[in-house]
Amino acid sequence: MMPPTSEANVPSALPASRSLGPFGTTIFAEISRLAVQHGAVNLAQGFPDFDGPEHVKAAAIEAIRAGHGQYARMLGLPALNAEVSRCFRERAGIDADPDACVTVTSGCTEAIAATMLGLLNPGDEVILFEPYYDSYRACVAMAGATARFVTLRGPDFTYDPAELERAVTERTRLIVVNSPHNPTGRVWTRAELEGVASVCRRQGLVAVSDEVYEHLVYEGAHIPFASLEGMWERTVTLNSLGKAFSLTGWKIGWSVAPAGLTKSIRAAHQFLTFAVSTPMQHAAVTALRSPASFYEATRDEFRARRAALCAILEREGYRFRVPEGGYFVYADHSAVSSRLGLADDVALVKHLIEQVGVAAIPPSVFYENKAEGRGLIRWAFCKKLETIEEAGRRLAAARGR
Ligand code: GLN
Repeated sequence: MMPPTSEANVPSALPASRSLGPFGTTIFAEISRLAVQHGAVNLAQGFPDFDGPEHVKAAAIEAIRAGHGQYARMLGLPALNAEVSRCFRERAGIDADPDACVTVTSGCTEAIAATMLGLLNPGDEVILFEPYYDSYRACVAMAGATARFVTLRGPDFTYDPAELERAVTERTRLIVVNSPHNPTGRVWTRAELEGVASVCRRQGLVAVSDEVYEHLVYEGAHIPFASLEGMWERTVTLNSLGKAFSLTGWKIGWSVAPAGLTKSIRAAHQFLTFAVSTPMQHAAVTALRSPASFYEATRDEFRARRAALCAILEREGYRFRVPEGGYFVYADHSAVSSRLGLADDVALVKHLIEQVGVAAIPPSVFYENKAEGRGLIRWAFCKKLETIEEAGRRLAAARGR
């Protein structure tokens, strides 16, 4: 006789690992799916709806034609490691040995995973500033470590130094910083960065600095975290091609860290992806050799997109600080949602997608205490001006104007 089948012994019914159980599908995939389903303009997931630069695309095509079709070196194509190291020296003033300190990864997201999995043990603790990029939280969990949170609150979205001090325990290993910041659009001041650095120095912690928006700073200047006094020795800097070159789909990222930390990051990287797409790495070398005028022109285009979105949101009654960097406007929606009788960010985004035809991100998922994000909404402006204007028309039309 056949043994009885129950859900428990059907392999396809195996649930996700306990460490991943709480996270479900990422909000970015979920909202983009709903946006497609409802034909909504996508000002939600942070990806450009325009293409990257021609000279970089041409380099990728050339690399494919030239037959660069086999695995790249595990730690990255020698020329790309060298180019990342050159850029790092230019930006941070630090000589990072290309082969000992640079690791090329599948986007910054893999660099985050390799860093967490390579450096953490079960029981270790990691300090995250919330709202956080969701993969930080999930990677801490996959590493079996515990996250502790310091909340960035409006209107300025800075942190309370006392709250940071309280979050440190004898188990703390890492603090994750991200400037320019997703989702708040803040570019952290030297004093804010220095506050984190001094905790790291005093407590013997490693900083993980996600700097993927470093070239998209519209006001003020980007300060590489590793350039702060005494921080190179204890900082893992993460970056990628995606944001600066509007090539998020190429998934080329990297870490730069002292040799000892890099060894541990690579211990994970070699088993996560082993190596990254070879032709795209060749093209990334070309990208990183772009002149300063390329970055300036990109910034100017993003400033125009930021201005267009801010004008619309202001007209619609959202309250926000104009972002100094990055892809996003982080807004208080209370005037809008109370006019519509909607309870929170999730209800508002559902209404916007289904009734107005515009998608944004409900940010309560970026908080441990979801209530902190209920009154906020994240809008992306890394979109064509026509896309932003179409969103504006739909928002106005929904109000009968
Ligand atoms: N970083 C982008 C965002 O915050 C997209 C991330 C993703 O889709 N995984 O929207």
